[in-house]
Amino acid sequence: MAWFRKEKKPRLPRRERLEIPADAWEKCEACGHTDIREKFVRNLNVCPACDYHRRIRAIDYLQLLLDDGTLEETDVEIRSADPLGFPEYPQRLKKALATAGDADAILTASGSLGGMPVNVGAMDFAFMGGSMGSVVGEKIARLGQRSLERKYPLVIVSASGGARMQEGVLSLMQMAKASAMLSMLAERRIPYVSILTNPTTGGVSASYAMLGDAILAEPGAVIGFAGPRVIKQTIGQDLPEGFQTAEFLLDHGMLDTVVHRRDLKRTVGQLLRHMTGKPAATGWASP
Ligand SMILES: [Zn+2]
Repeated sequence: MAWFRKEKKPRLPRRERLEIPADAWEKCEACGHTDIREKFVRNLNVCPACDYHRRIRAIDYLQLLLDDGTLEETDVEIRSADPLGFPEYPQRLKKALATAGDADAILTASGSLGGMPVNVGAMDFAFMGGSMGSVVGEKIARLGQRSLERKYPLVIVSASGGARMQEGVLSLMQMAKASAMLSMLAERRIPYVSILTNPTTGGVSASYAMLGDAILAEPGAVIGFAGPRVIKQTIGQDLPEGFQTAEFLLDHGMLDTVVHRRDLKRTVGQLLRHMTGKPAATGWASP
């Protein structure tokens, strides 16, 4: 006869209790490191294991750069037309508007950065590969115009596969339009900082992306005009290691610096303070 009996409680399998929903996990595209999405997000979507800078959306860049509560989006109402009657362009646009947000491939905003008023544009690769059509060009031109009127520095974050072929020559024209606006800013000595993210290619790299008074890039970003295959075919030579990465371009004098995403705001702030600072001469009383 037993003196006592211990009742057995059914035990939940440990795995089940710790279960995290499958969609909460994310995997680094570069090294395969898997982590909870929260951890990636807290790390600004830079892989905690290998430092790979994952692609983020335009709104993320605006929030990253601008001081809390100062972001005011501008020119939200501009939409692309289909000037050439390009096959399936209206459908593709409609789909992009439904899945990638109701702006085009760029968000523009006014706000302050480290207490300084600025105008910031951020391209969105999720919207038709960040392609530069009339809307992107027009929003940049209007943002630049605001900078001219108020003497606010301009910051543009680029992420683009190039010009939007569905708008043909009208999209190529945006390269010249943006460049003309930037030359007016330069004439009035209003600073423009260009930030290149992965990827910055095609017409955007041949226009405003490379015209910054200071040109910054995120680590590992692919930057170039044509793709490596096209260049290899054209020049008939093998391309060097790391060709078209931010680090390679920095080594060859095409960029001013490569900046980790967590240091982006501070670096841009320092540059703008330096560039907008009153010349030392005005601070000196002449004898
Ligand atoms: Zn990684």
